[in-house]
Order: sequence, then structure tokens, then C-alpha cells
Amino acid sequence: MAKPLTGCLDDIFNRLLTHFGALHWWPAESPFEVVVGAILTQNTAWRNVEGVIAALKDEAPLTVASLLWMDRQRLEELIRPSGFFRQKAERLQLFATYLMDHYAGDLGAMLSGPLQQVRDELLCCKGVGPETADSILLYAGDRPSFVVDAYTRRLFGRLGLLQGKESYDKVRQMFMTHLPHNSDLFNEYHALIVEQCKQYCRTKPLCCDCPLQGDCAAYLRGDYP
Ligand code: SF4
Repeated sequence: MAKPLTGCLDDIFNRLLTHFGALHWWPAESPFEVVVGAILTQNTAWRNVEGVIAALKDEAPLTVASLLWMDRQRLEELIRPSGFFRQKAERLQLFATYLMDHYAGDLGAMLSGPLQQVRDELLCCKGVGPETADSILLYAGDRPSFVVDAYTRRLFGRLGLLQGKESYDKVRQMFMTHLPHNSDLFNEYHALIVEQCKQYCRTKPLCCDCPLQGDCAAYLRGDYP
């Protein structure tokens, strides 16, 4: 008999945690820095964002006000290495404007309401899609909203728990339904998925030493000898 999904998700988490240890994401010094990172990392690798965040901090303290008042051209120049720099500069300043106008610049106040309400509000901000909204909720707000990214889809597709064409919300719902709503757990789980996909479950996977090998449908089918 197939193992219930809750047990599968628990097992996968425990194997990854045992293998990699706790990763304690997100690499940021403040909740607002998480927001900036979550917008900058859209359509680009995190390594391209790290230098940009450092450059922004060299320019001025990374606060809502400093970002809001920064000259647009200067902001575009600083974030250029993260790609789509004009679009991202606009999104960053629009988000800062929204925060200032509605919450006097207090991100914590914005993120502290009922989870679904805050998520809907984030999704109404220009350029904030579901992955960015959930990253902000989880990593800036410490709220239990599971983050789904391309790594999640790849790993759980290969493990046999996703078919591959599910919507973002459907994948998120799988985790939200079968795991306790705990932000520390969701934080670690997402970080471990990313680490697993960087080290083993790459585009061309390295199955040989993978900690999930015994439970992997793709591997057991012989897709990756
Ligand atoms: S066994 Fe291979 S395909 Fe399966 S999860 Fe591990 S690395 Fe990915």
C-alpha cells in the first residue's frame, strides 16, 4: 500500500535534514532586505543578487525610505546585474511607496494580518507573484506560507509526488494540507529542497549519492542510471 502523503513529506524532510543539517534561511540582515532580495531574484540566480544587495547597502542603509527616495536611474544602475533592472527598479519603488502610504513604512505591520488577507494584498502589488509573495510571508514575516519554486517542482516531480502540470496553488496546497503550519518547518523545508537540487537533483541529476535515492520514482524506474 502506498505511504500516505503526509508520511512521504515527513520522510523526505527528515532525510534531507539529516543529510544537510539545518540551513537557517534566508540570508538577509532585515525583513525588508528579504523583500528586496525576493523581488531581485525573480528570473535570475541568487548569486546575481548577492552582489547587488551589497552594492545597495554600500550606497545607503537598505530601508524603505532610502529605496523610495533613491534616484531611479541610480537604482537601475545598482541593480543592473540582477537583470530586468528597469522593471525591478520600478517594482521595488512601487512596493516601498505602497508600504509608506499604507503602513508608514512598517513592513511588520503589513505582514501581521490574517495570512490569506496579507497574501492577497501582496499579490495585488505590481510584480509580486505567488512565489515572491510566499517568500516575503515566510522569510520576512515568519508566516507559515509554503514557497514553491522550480526546484520544488523538479524534485517532487522526479520523486513521483507531482505530475508536472499542476498550478502553483495546487503544489503549494499539497504542502499546506499535509504539513503542520509552522514557519520554522516551512523555512527549513524550502531551504533543504533548494540545497538538494543544487547538490544532487540538478538538471542532470547526480543520483549516485543522493539521500532520496531509495524513494525516488524516477531513479527506481531507471530514468537516471
Ligand atoms: S535519485 Fe536522482 S532524480 Fe531522484 S531525487 Fe535523487 S538526484 Fe533527484
